[in-house]
Amino acid sequence: MSKIILTGDRPTGKLHVGHYVGSLRRRVELQNSGEFDKIFIMIADAQALTDNADNPEKVRQNIIEVALDYLAVGLDPAKSNLFIQSQIPELTELSFYYMNLVTVSRLQRNPTVKTELQMRNFGTSIPVGFFTYPISQAADITAFKATVVPVGEDQEPMIEQCKEIVRKFNSTYGEALVEPEILLPDNAACLRLPGIDGKAKMSKSLGNCIYLSEEPDSIKKKVMSMFTDPNHLRVEDPGQVEGNPVFIYLDAFAKDEHFAEFLPEYNNLRELKDHYSRGGLGDVKVKKFLNNVLQTELEPIRNRRKEFQKDIPYVYDVLRKGSEVAKETAAKTLEDVKSAMRINYF
Ligand code: ATP
Ligand code: MG
Repeated sequence: MSKIILTGDRPTGKLHVGHYVGSLRRRVELQNSGEFDKIFIMIADAQALTDNADNPEKVRQNIIEVALDYLAVGLDPAKSNLFIQSQIPELTELSFYYMNLVTVSRLQRNPTVKTELQMRNFGTSIPVGFFTYPISQAADITAFKATVVPVGEDQEPMIEQCKEIVRKFNSTYGEALVEPEILLPDNAACLRLPGIDGKAKMSKSLGNCIYLSEEPDSIKKKVMSMFTDPNHLRVEDPGQVEGNPVFIYLDAFAKDEHFAEFLPEYNNLRELKDHYSRGGLGDVKVKKFLNNVLQTELEPIRNRRKEFQKDIPYVYDVLRKGSEVAKETAAKTLEDVKSAMRINYF
């Protein structure tokens, strides 16, 4: 069986370091591994409209921002197919047929739907389109017969529900769809990177992000203002490493060579953590180190982004070509689906 990847992001803002460690960094590794037959990376603009219906301009502008972030981190249009969701109407058609295979109560029980609804304070005014998020995501994944979906931990219930839809479809109409597997980051710190405010998830919608395009001064300011252990008041106090956002970021980003370059009195993160736990290590020193690490990792990304920014028509061209390929693939799947359902009448 072919090995196919589908993943993507909502164009609701620029991408941040949570996206990077949760999904983007892995995508680039997978892309360059040469193990996959096809890689589809989707900018989910139709999905973003489900909770931004009154602001299509925001979504429109962020399509290019997300595309620039993709190219900046090393997604290569020669190896990965970058496309815009709304340009593939077949996805909407698939969603419509899948809707009949899912109950309202099952959607209500989906833990990601629950959290995302809460985060947006919809109250009783939930847009139907937003509510059906897992169904449209199942359409996106199955349209490309994706076998692997590399995403952050928050997406796990979505992939579970996608598998249910596939099983239900295949058992009702005959085998036409492929069940995907989720691929989570192997580093626990990257599953759900907290925000700089210590909140559970760095999220565009919560404004607690360090963006991939962030300028050096601003990265530094954000890092120096980060939450740490609130009980670590004096340098000599023992500090808590678990749940401390500064150490979670170090878990996600610090490599041994960063120690050699910026903090040679420690060989690795283990030694730094031990010192912090024992007491005698101040937050400022740890934050300065984290700042150096992030500056080192983000500088090449930011510079590449600036290069691509000089040629926006090229970026749109990449997306147009990618969307053409995606449309062809999705159209074939839609044909399979309609044949299985025996609704291709002519
Ligand atoms: P929005 O607030 O509009 O939903 P978002 O920041 O949650 O935006 P998405 O586009 O919903 O971003 O998510 C894109 C991908 O990034 C998903 O695979 C998701 O799991 C992953 N991701 C998002 N935030 C984080 C995070 N803080 N840590 C790890 N992975 C994340
Ligand atoms: Mg999200």
